[in-house]
Amino acid sequence: MSTLFISDVHVDSTRPEILRQLLRFLETIARDAEDLYILGDLFETWIGDDDPDPDKHRVVHAIHDLSQSGVRCYFMAGNRDFLTGDVFAERTGCELLQDPSLVQLFDVPVLLLHGDTLCTDDHEYQRFRQMVRDQGWQQDFLSTSVDHRLAMASQARDTSKSRSSRKPPEIMDVSKTEVNAVMREHRTYTMIHGHTHRPDIHRFLVDDHPATRIVLGDWYTQGSYLRWSPAGYSLESLPR
Ligand code: MN
Repeated sequence: MSTLFISDVHVDSTRPEILRQLLRFLETIARDAEDLYILGDLFETWIGDDDPDPDKHRVVHAIHDLSQSGVRCYFMAGNRDFLTGDVFAERTGCELLQDPSLVQLFDVPVLLLHGDTLCTDDHEYQRFRQMVRDQGWQQDFLSTSVDHRLAMASQARDTSKSRSSRKPPEIMDVSKTEVNAVMREHRTYTMIHGHTHRPDIHRFLVDDHPATRIVLGDWYTQGSYLRWSPAGYSLESLPR
């Protein structure tokens, strides 16, 4: 009995080795789990359900096969693939999760997030997030041509890369103040998120409550997942 978590796979046609490793993971390790949670940035970009990239469609089919085999699959959008919606959910068989979501894992209440909302020291990013998560903005964007959206996504990626390279690393990490505030607000002291690409298990105190923050790893140079079972949890890496 186990529940698996992945995030930040960043499937992209320029990195076929990531796609191969993800498909293998979905066909083997994930088949033996009861539940698979995908906590965002599965795709490097997602410009809408009419995204023409065949690699992304292979991933959609593989998740569909997995959910059809009886593994419950859940998807939370990240900052790269926030335009996934009901059509994506239907095609994959995933249940879409709000960010944050509270779940019970073998009687432990756990808060799930992509992780970008915790990076509150990055004001520039939070302003951008607010804009692109607006329903009106999304409707306008999705009404433009596929070519226009591909060009915009590529431009956004370049801008984000050059801005990120200029920001001090601590700005790009979660704010500890925000982590504590979110835990207090939900009265939940275990949290799982991705986004920062800094896989680790942090243990600390929030108002005398023992707290745990588990950070999932990205898939740029290896596979990475969290396994949670009644016996405990561990961050696992898959060599490439
Ligand atoms: Mn992210």
